[in-house]
Amino acid sequence: MQSSLFRGAAFTRPLFSATIPFMKQLYLETFGCQMNVADSDRMELLLFQDGYRRTPHRESADVVLINTCAIREKAEQKVFSLFGQLKPIKLKNPDVVLGLTGCLAQQEQDSLLKKMPFLDFILGPDAIESVPDAVEKARQARRPLIDIDFDREKKYSIPALDGPRTTGPVAFVNIIKGCDKFCSFCVVPNTRGREKSRADSEIYEEVRQLVSAGAREIILLGQNVNSYGKVGLDTPLTFHELLRGVADIPGVERLRFTSSHPMDMTRDVIDAYRDLPNLMNHMHLPVQSGSDAVLYRMRRHHTVENYIDLIDELKQEVPGIAMTTDLIVGFPGETESDFEETLTLMRRIGFHNSYMFAYSPRPFTPATEYEDSVEHEVKQERLQRVIRLQEELAKAAGLDFLEREVEVLVESASDREGIDYRGRNPEYWNVMIASPDESLEPGDIVKVKINHASGHALRGTWVETINPALHSMIA
Ligand code: SF4
Repeated sequence: MQSSLFRGAAFTRPLFSATIPFMKQLYLETFGCQMNVADSDRMELLLFQDGYRRTPHRESADVVLINTCAIREKAEQKVFSLFGQLKPIKLKNPDVVLGLTGCLAQQEQDSLLKKMPFLDFILGPDAIESVPDAVEKARQARRPLIDIDFDREKKYSIPALDGPRTTGPVAFVNIIKGCDKFCSFCVVPNTRGREKSRADSEIYEEVRQLVSAGAREIILLGQNVNSYGKVGLDTPLTFHELLRGVADIPGVERLRFTSSHPMDMTRDVIDAYRDLPNLMNHMHLPVQSGSDAVLYRMRRHHTVENYIDLIDELKQEVPGIAMTTDLIVGFPGETESDFEETLTLMRRIGFHNSYMFAYSPRPFTPATEYEDSVEHEVKQERLQRVIRLQEELAKAAGLDFLEREVEVLVESASDREGIDYRGRNPEYWNVMIASPDESLEPGDIVKVKINHASGHALRGTWVETINPALHSMIA
């Protein structure tokens, strides 16, 4: 699944402390989705073993890595605009190793090398485990190295590594990679390859490590997590069984997953929501369009009615569950009446939030065979209309929390006026907390009385700490 994970933002958050004198310096910039952020964290951990430490200074780094995104034209443009800044770095310091990784690197390797012949290596998302090797070879060989192969036979494994494991109160854990759905607009099957699941034993071990390092909320991550177990496991296991296995691990106070496909959402997963108190009261289920004709051309393999039935069943078992989704407007052939069906569906479900995009054709995707028939202005106008409707729906959903006491996992302190901390409630709303208690820490689970709802976030006042963090996360 793509959009919720793909927000086109750049992250430079280091896993490990920034500049340590005399260590080799790694500058790592990440574009795109949470999968890319997780890949960057992994590359940082791998290079940590070789003595590299993260630096925020690109110009003085020994290794500069740019982890790229190709999901939308806009994300791609952001990466391209960065390229011009890399050449002077190489000219000034020929010893610096410059590497590109991620989906754009996978998709555009040849043209990237033409644009940037000074690059040292290009690695696709399937090859990030070889980043230390690529750095070492680049130091010796001084000619571009490209690794963008997908090995169908190779198991999907992220072995545990020695070294400090740091985490915030919320930690992402990869459970599956690639996708076999081949939606007609999506680059993922090309850039991240076919679907493969990761062994449950590795997943459980990583969750245990994260919990002992202080994580309280685990988010299971993949392009299509609810397809877990179909390809790549020696011992069969389904997604709902994995959910129950992770939920049982002591210290997992909260559990979520992203992202998923309606076709793989089973009754067993709905039952897991009903049964597991730590599976949070929120499901992100991308629908993309409210028109059957558009869904057909998108190759989503379900109808609007299938989607509504699924959510009705879920809401019956889990009253109050917050639904969020992904929407694309202006897909080839989308008529005004198709588009209005999307608005109708949004109202019918009452989404708390949506990730909304105007369609742009992506290279090598089946949808490029369709004429990109909706004019740019019409796409933009439709985008504004879905955004406005979503704001109304979010405002209405937010009002439901007013005057209620909600549980919030504190994620960070805040220095905004009148806000002392920030966290999320079970429905995945951002909650801004005013607190007379100045000793709250990331990882505390607190009760907050909501006194304001804007549609984007909730605001409230700390009432009590109901489950303090076991580990201090303040250095
Ligand atoms: S092909 Fe479809 S299901 Fe797979 S990642 Fe892309 S949008 Fe999601």
